[in-house]
Amino acid sequence: MSRAMSNKSLDFGKPASGKKRLKDLLLQKDNRYCADCGAPDPKWASANIGVFICLKCCGVHRSLGTHISKVLSVTLDEWSDDEIESMVEVGGNSSANAIYEAFVPGGYEKPGPDASHELRAKFIRAKYELQEFLKPSLRIVSLPSEKGSLKSSFSRKLMDSFRSNSSHNSEGMVEFIGLLKVKVIKGTNLAIRDMMTSDPYVILTLGQQTVQTTIIKSNLNPVWNEELMLSVPQHFGPLKLRVFDHDTFSADDIMGEAEVDLQPLITSAIAFGDAGMFGNMQIGKWLKSHDNALKDDSTVNIIDGKVKQAVSLKLQNVECGELDLELEWMPLDQ
Ligand SMILES: [Zn+2]
Repeated sequence: MSRAMSNKSLDFGKPASGKKRLKDLLLQKDNRYCADCGAPDPKWASANIGVFICLKCCGVHRSLGTHISKVLSVTLDEWSDDEIESMVEVGGNSSANAIYEAFVPGGYEKPGPDASHELRAKFIRAKYELQEFLKPSLRIVSLPSEKGSLKSSFSRKLMDSFRSNSSHNSEGMVEFIGLLKVKVIKGTNLAIRDMMTSDPYVILTLGQQTVQTTIIKSNLNPVWNEELMLSVPQHFGPLKLRVFDHDTFSADDIMGEAEVDLQPLITSAIAFGDAGMFGNMQIGKWLKSHDNALKDDSTVNIIDGKVKQAVSLKLQNVECGELDLELEWMPLDQ
């Protein structure tokens, strides 16, 4: 195909998939209006904060400096995969505002699309720079100043502290945001606990809930293909997984453990909303690193209208063993 024929899709110089993900995110309902003033059709975004904004608000964001807000044009600028990832991870204007505008004092007037520059600037500074409307425990006293590294971006740090704080939240009521279906597929080369072999089973824990697979007798390469369901609370931590050897006469021995970060799956699933509206595509990724149990990067995909993630783990705190899972996110309203 000639460049001239399709020059609209080629002039971004990025693979269509990344650009498409960004465009899909922009088309999400809440992102059709500026996160700060509500003006329709925002064409700009703050890549590190993760919001879509209008041209006027973009001007204010720019004046805050890139250590607070890194603005990019949705249509004109080149986006790195990291920047797109960061936007997808935040999940759009509603998710971002749920954090940045969590505690707007009663009577405070958020600027509208026609607000003066002064009013707009005052609000945007209060919202992002001074973080006046955050839940008090989330307010960050000193701002990170690394430049160019989105991995440690302002917003990412905030999301992280949001996550770790929430596990200490002890309100009596737990609100669930969806269901997590975990298919425990198989174990490979599991550790030996009884003389020659083991009778393995898997326990999954999320918050206060625990579910477990059946026990498979005398097998170091067990195939379960068993689906387990967990409710996901609004403030969820990692999915904890432990493999045990069943022992009839004594306490069961542990054969390794691992943690699964659910954030990539759930954040991208929520960002995309109704997965049935999209064709098969990748929407997120949990990256292998030295401090997680992943064997390889694990991608989040829409497959036939469902949000799924295949996860291969190297069991931790054990001499050997791997475990394959498939996660599926099921929102509550479906
Ligand atoms: Zn605006």
